[in-house]
Amino acid sequence: KVRVRFAPSPTGPLHIGGVRTALYNYLFARQNGGDMVFRIEDTDSNRFVPGAEEYILEAFNWLGIVFDEGVSFGGDKGPYRQSERRDIYKKYVDILLEEGKAYIAFDTPQELEAKRNEIKNFQYDASTRGMMRNSLTLPKEEVEALIAAGTQYVVRFKIEPGEEVHVRDLIRGDVKISSSVLDDKVLYKSADQLPTYHLANIVDDHLMEISHVIRGEEWLPSAPLHVLLYRAFGWEDTMPQFAHLSLLLKPDGKGKLSKRDGDRLGFPVFPLLWKDPKTGEESRGYREDGYLPEAVINFLALLGWNPGTDQEILSMEELINQFDITKCSKAGAKFDYVKGQWFNHEYILQKPDAELMPHFQKILKENGIEVPDERAQKVVELMKSRVNFIKELWPLCSFFFEAPTTYDEKTTRKRWKAHSPKQMSELLEVVREIDDFSIENQEAVVHGWIEQKEYKMGDVMNAWRLMLVGEGKGPGMFDITAFLGKEETLSRMEKALK
Ligand code: GLU
Repeated sequence: KVRVRFAPSPTGPLHIGGVRTALYNYLFARQNGGDMVFRIEDTDSNRFVPGAEEYILEAFNWLGIVFDEGVSFGGDKGPYRQSERRDIYKKYVDILLEEGKAYIAFDTPQELEAKRNEIKNFQYDASTRGMMRNSLTLPKEEVEALIAAGTQYVVRFKIEPGEEVHVRDLIRGDVKISSSVLDDKVLYKSADQLPTYHLANIVDDHLMEISHVIRGEEWLPSAPLHVLLYRAFGWEDTMPQFAHLSLLLKPDGKGKLSKRDGDRLGFPVFPLLWKDPKTGEESRGYREDGYLPEAVINFLALLGWNPGTDQEILSMEELINQFDITKCSKAGAKFDYVKGQWFNHEYILQKPDAELMPHFQKILKENGIEVPDERAQKVVELMKSRVNFIKELWPLCSFFFEAPTTYDEKTTRKRWKAHSPKQMSELLEVVREIDDFSIENQEAVVHGWIEQKEYKMGDVMNAWRLMLVGEGKGPGMFDITAFLGKEETLSRMEKALK
């Protein structure tokens, strides 16, 4: 059975690249009728940030990515928070120690530093472990005495050099690396009695029966070590298949997209607004910036994968059906945030107007406008094709709700002609006589009058627009008057003619 996991470390807000990794896991799990596990990798207590876990869960909830198992979802392979699995890891560390596949090392940070200064490119491995203070070099009694005295130690993986390690990757094929370049990674620290990422990750993926590890390219260098760990435990037969996703790059393609790029370049790199609990500093989020979650999903799905057709708008359902992990690009994907805005535009167009109401009503409220949904929805219907974000509607459509207090000078100069006062006074009387204020009827009456008078259509409409809107923008004139209603239309005209 396909089982994947998303396993963030709660060291801060979820980066948009992490969201894409989770999305690809989700699409893969769903298309294979599999499960997706949410695991919290919090073994590095120094880097723990309060609120990060809740933030991550809220982000997925907003995006519509639903896990089947894990922290806050439950399941029978828990606990799913690594800090609650100490005993499990200890057991597996002990197995490696007993079998001589790992060893205890007492070297202090100072001693390690001294070695690094003494030996160029020092690496703790087969070539150097013989000169260090560890259970391979010290007599057994001394090791025991040191431990009994409470001396801090770490457990290191004993990597045998000279072997070609193969990582079979669904995206990259067979990646080969010599074990000689790997160092004896720390697997466990006595100081906090916690494993490091590498050990915990392998033990958990095994015990949680993970079939596919889909994660960022930054973990590819660790994959050979992980393969060796699976082997050391005798778990090679059930080792997950790997897929390392290429990185998201800065919009100009120059380097990896970093957490700081967003604020620098003017777009969010986090799904939700994040407030740093230490500094209080805020970072923008897609949700608060006014993106629809569907647009973010569609945008991210196509960063590093495409369906091989021209189709760009894909629903979650279509993504699940069409996604192909083996077709993910090996090269980094440029983070084209302008394209993200286009996606939002497309999804605003697609979405039923009623569902956009909460967003729009919020903006109206912020501007002191209270109208029933029905009226607000009419404006959305008329104007949404012009914006990428619902918040952009306000400057375009405030005139629907507030009569103009000034008249744009440039428009006035161009469109309020010498004959305009006369024409508009006549129009005022024409409008006063219209009882059926439907778009169709108004149009018939006003156009009939213009023809009869042999006025120029443009002259009349431009001047009329200026009176009602205060400038030259807006949708069709009769859409505006029908929305405003007869009374408000007359009142704005009278005011302008005064
Ligand atoms: N905890 C790791 C991270 O934060 C997970 C890496 C993995 O998926 O193996 O990225």
